[in-house]
Amino acid sequence: AHDEYFNPTRINMMSIYISFAFMLLGILFLNIYSLILTRELSYAYYIIYIITSIAFSSMHSGSYLILGLNGWNEGLHVVGSFLVLMLLFFTDRFLEFKKEFPLFHKFFMFSAIIISLFIILIYNNVAFSSLLFNLYSIIFFIMLFIGVVKIFLKGSMDVKYYLLALIVYLPLLGLMVATFNTLLPYSDFTRHAFVVGAFVEIMLFTLILTSRYNTINHEKIRIQKELLYEKGKNELYLEAKIAKRTKELELLASTDSLTKLFNRRYFMEMSESILELTKRNNTSLSIMMADIDNFKCINDTYGHAIGDKVIIMVANILKEYTRKSDIVARWGGEEFITLFPQTTIEGTLKIAQKIRTAIEEETVVLADGKEIKFTISIGVDLVDINNDSNLEAAINRSDKALYKAKDGGRNMVCKYLS
Ligand code: GH3
Ligand code: MG
Ligand code: MG
Repeated sequence: AHDEYFNPTRINMMSIYISFAFMLLGILFLNIYSLILTRELSYAYYIIYIITSIAFSSMHSGSYLILGLNGWNEGLHVVGSFLVLMLLFFTDRFLEFKKEFPLFHKFFMFSAIIISLFIILIYNNVAFSSLLFNLYSIIFFIMLFIGVVKIFLKGSMDVKYYLLALIVYLPLLGLMVATFNTLLPYSDFTRHAFVVGAFVEIMLFTLILTSRYNTINHEKIRIQKELLYEKGKNELYLEAKIAKRTKELELLASTDSLTKLFNRRYFMEMSESILELTKRNNTSLSIMMADIDNFKCINDTYGHAIGDKVIIMVANILKEYTRKSDIVARWGGEEFITLFPQTTIEGTLKIAQKIRTAIEEETVVLADGKEIKFTISIGVDLVDINNDSNLEAAINRSDKALYKAKDGGRNMVCKYLS
């Protein structure tokens, strides 16, 4: 039994061909799947090529007769020619001859016409057409080989596997064709060795097709990821930009453009909540009104631009001498208002004096080097947290204190006295 099992006659040519056909069938489905996924034309040619290969090998072995099909004398030659035609289209498309080597592409297209013509002639049993086709095939395969080597030398992609497939397949194919044309004596090897070549060739083609599909797929995924990342980045960037712009607009609406102090509107808005807070915490809140002395005179003597400069200087000193929690605002032309939360009247008077002195010591240097001095008058009062429902009354009292300072000769701080 042991000897019988290893008897070589158990494996005959037919079963090799049938196994080969089944393997090709598997590869066929793999490629149909790839075609559906990628819709790349190379796969379509390759699928027809495999189907033709199955047909060719089953005709070559005669195994198609098992299926009960009629014998077809010229079938092998017709299908063989068609096989070459499909290899041509597949190669031309897959190795992108049109782009890489336009001259070879033209030769391929010309050959496609010639081979198609041969198929018709062989089909119609025209004498010597099969032999002529074989001769033309030699030229075609030599050109194909040169073309593939040329692309290989350009270092393009996975063409090396394609080249390897050709190197394995072509000599064995030649052997088979030569045997057919009685150029070589018939033997199992010379006649059937090409099946091994065809198998290696098809495996290699499948390998490169699949690997290329994977590469394309990976590239697709990479690009998609990149785009998503870019989109995310842009969205974040946009959000940040909007937030920044909103802040800018808020600031714009709340500040005075010349002095960058808060404007009157924002001051009134803020003062409401500060008054609320002061009442709840039962602390003190004081107001300071300041007005630049004889400002009309500064404007008239040195011009509006210098007047503006003086206003900015006063604003900067006010900012410098007050705390972050104090609200300094431009009340009108050259008038300023400041709210001091959690500050007693004594404390406010002290700060006011400091501010008055600082402004007194400040100078504006004119273009001609001349220095000008200016002063400020200040009136202060405390907000009555028990009786004042808003700041209006306290502002009025501070204003009155300011008039008193002006009446008293300017450049002084006055407290409101009832
Ligand atoms: P007093 O000491 O009594 O305050 O005298 P004054 O000259 O400062 O009197 P008043 O407050 O009436 O004059 C204010 C002047 O300030 C009137 C206006 O022309 C000028 N002014 C108002 N806003 C601006 C401004 O933004 N820039 C400049 N350069 N001048 C302004
Ligand atoms: Mg004024
Ligand atoms: Mg003034």
